[in-house]
Amino acid sequence: MSGNGRLSNYIGGEWRESGTSAYVDVVNPATTEVLGQVPLSPAGEVEQAVAAAAGAFPNWRRTPPVDRIKYLFSLRDLLLEHYEELARTITMESGKILDESRGEMLRAVENVEVACGIPLMMQGRSSEDIASGIDEFMMRQPLGVCGIVTPFNFPGMIPFWFFPYAIACGNTVVVKPSERTPLTMHRVFELLDQSGLPPGVVNLVNGAREAVDGILDHPDVRAVSFVGSTPVAKYIYSRGTSNGKRVQAHGGAKNPLIVLPDAEMEMTSQIVADSAFGSAGQRCLAGSLALTVGEAREPFSQAIAEAAKRRVVGYGLDEGTEMGPVITGQSKERIQNLIQKAADEGARLLVDGRNPTVRGYEKGFFVRPTVLQDLPPASEVAETEIFGPVLSLVHVDTVDEAIALVNRGRYGNMACLFTTSGPAARKFRYEANVGNVGVNIGVAAPMAWFPFSGWRESFFGTMHGQGMDAVEFFTQKKVVIERWPRTWSRKF
Ligand code: NAD
Repeated sequence: MSGNGRLSNYIGGEWRESGTSAYVDVVNPATTEVLGQVPLSPAGEVEQAVAAAAGAFPNWRRTPPVDRIKYLFSLRDLLLEHYEELARTITMESGKILDESRGEMLRAVENVEVACGIPLMMQGRSSEDIASGIDEFMMRQPLGVCGIVTPFNFPGMIPFWFFPYAIACGNTVVVKPSERTPLTMHRVFELLDQSGLPPGVVNLVNGAREAVDGILDHPDVRAVSFVGSTPVAKYIYSRGTSNGKRVQAHGGAKNPLIVLPDAEMEMTSQIVADSAFGSAGQRCLAGSLALTVGEAREPFSQAIAEAAKRRVVGYGLDEGTEMGPVITGQSKERIQNLIQKAADEGARLLVDGRNPTVRGYEKGFFVRPTVLQDLPPASEVAETEIFGPVLSLVHVDTVDEAIALVNRGRYGNMACLFTTSGPAARKFRYEANVGNVGVNIGVAAPMAWFPFSGWRESFFGTMHGQGMDAVEFFTQKKVVIERWPRTWSRKF
């Protein structure tokens, strides 16, 4: 960052100030302090980054995978060395509490570690003698320049679902982080600079829609990875694919958690509270609807209401804080309007977290945990991603009814079941029409060596982020059939 607090772009191995006059403030959502200014870079600057990435590609793809991953080993060490500082930056720009930010950075590091297995992961396969004296090989080769566009809520982790795999596979990348939380990636790129990666292998362009369109329309960008809201994911998928690119686009969510009467209520309410209110509900895996089955209704409603009221809300850097603010004032207003809308649609406000006063941070964008009882399943709010600390309770009579509700929703990011019954758990995991499933788990976030799944309106594409899916996404398969008649080597 320059002395005037303005972020730069990282292109071709150097920091370049954007030529734009359009800068927006990066605001700490708890204190409302301005942390820096981010440029809304024009498409021309994306073009420079793509040119740098395209220029670096031929040498980078010829660098053996075992040598490519040496840079990732260095990056891993640098991330761990600066772990606490990165975690604090995440908290300051996104609002989540420090422990959540630390967890986020660990997930980032794990993706770098898994990508270090690329020499094995990107191996092809072969068959000797598919016909007499003829052999066939399948090998994986990189695509070229890849674009990565990420959301505000995990500024330290989500770019790592993609770029370590992309570059380990021999591609070069242009990363466009969220303009609301760009500071963490800016710092990561300073560390990437120190890792000694050849210029142009990784590039960073700050900005918003214009920069994204620059990536989607550039003929030299071969693939685009996106994470964000569903309307934007759809847009990215359709514009990217119609321009002939490979696209993976993770979208929004509305995650249901089913509570059966045999669940261990105390533990379940704690786990559900962490799922719904952790990161102020701004996780794509946040529990958003609790479907209580039969006699679970009363004990669960009581326990979750108490957990919601108990939660300590404040600034994420302060010791003892359990939940921070939401990202912007607009976001707060939108969430509070949706709470009102739910009440208008027939829900009862069991715990109302609107307009709280948080001592010392009166201007911050806080909404306290909110619990809505008896939200009609057919209401608009039951289908809307609130992306705030709001849990809606819906009551049903049977597990079949609950699973039917899970499968009726438009999203398919995650669904969880709380029970002590093995057969119920098996039925649920078999029938739930979602990509990530939790059983007695409230945030079923796949580890780095599993795909970060997501179905229906939560994902557009075929291959997800992380692990082998990422290797599949960032490589193209070449099949070679080879014959060497013996007569051609007579002289040996
Ligand atoms: P967003 O869709 O507003 O923004 C995501 C990215 O797209 C940002 O980089 C932004 O600059 C860019 N963008 C925004 N509008 C655009 C437009 N019209 N054209 C082109 N680019 C545009 O999302 P957000 O508010 O930053 O993040 C929250 C959303 O992300 C939630 O819906 C959440 O569920 C989702 N999310 C999903 C996952 C997942 O794995 N499925 C993970 C994290 C977040």
